Amino acid sequence: MGIIEMMRLDGKKGFVTGAARGIGKCTATAFAEAGADLAIVDLDIATAEQTAKEIAEATGRKIIAIKCDVTNEAEVQAMVDEVVEKLGGLDFCHANAGICINAAADEMTFAQWRKNLSINLDSVFLTDTIAAKYMLAHGGGSIINTASMSAHIVNVPQPQCAYNASKAGVIQLTKSLAIEWAKRGVRVNSISPGYIGTDLTLSSPTLQPLIAQWNAMAPMGRLGRPEELGSICVYLAGDTSTFTTGSDFIIDGAFTCF
Ligand code: NAD
Repeated sequence: MGIIEMMRLDGKKGFVTGAARGIGKCTATAFAEAGADLAIVDLDIATAEQTAKEIAEATGRKIIAIKCDVTNEAEVQAMVDEVVEKLGGLDFCHANAGICINAAADEMTFAQWRKNLSINLDSVFLTDTIAAKYMLAHGGGSIINTASMSAHIVNVPQPQCAYNASKAGVIQLTKSLAIEWAKRGVRVNSISPGYIGTDLTLSSPTLQPLIAQWNAMAPMGRLGRPEELGSICVYLAGDTSTFTTGSDFIIDGAFTCF
């Protein structure tokens, strides 16, 4: 079989969290285009259902929508159970849901800190460990986590200490899980996108006005497009990346190179 055929995900089943829109919607589309059946998992079930319908119509794959708050252990367990029941298994997942709270550290409330850490980091622990319990017992699998270039640099000028700390945590959690499961067939990797044009940036009243400043700092002079993250995730989910685990992939148009 040729390398491109080997990269396909025909017969594989997975889910993407935070997939109603943005980066998750684009990686879900890429997984389905590569042949996978999957669940669009999000708090916003109305948009998730619309996204599932669009991807199913475009690809002919079985795409379901599941409402789940990824910070809630019981809901994540129920979501994984539903994926296995409705799709017939679980081979890969993309723990992608996240938010960014922009507040100066000396003005940030503890509740804001906890909320950002809970949605961005606690959720990855829950999603990865609950998915892995199934994968470890059923022949293995591949887990992809969305970190950020903010795990590697401190973004300026906006203050976002909780976001940055949460994403650094995602990378260390990814590496820790990769080592724990390396001999047991479950691989764990992360992607670290640079600034990407999604609702998180384009629709944020605090971040949107900063885009021209970011672009002036960016070697490519532009934001990334969420579609530009699809192929790396298809690679990580599939069978040409079997020696790839514990790695973080920075996809940022060289933003963090200097
Ligand atoms: P987005 O706001 O466009 O989409 C995020 C999705 O996550 C939404 O559909 C939202 O409903 C869902 N979500 C939020 N909280 C949830 C919860 N508790 N349970 C389930 N779903 C929940 O954001 P995006 O830009 O697509 O970001 C996706 C991921 O990529 C996030 O982890 C983000 O931190 C990361 N990221 C984004 C950028 C960027 O510039 N956009 C850069 C680096 C990393």
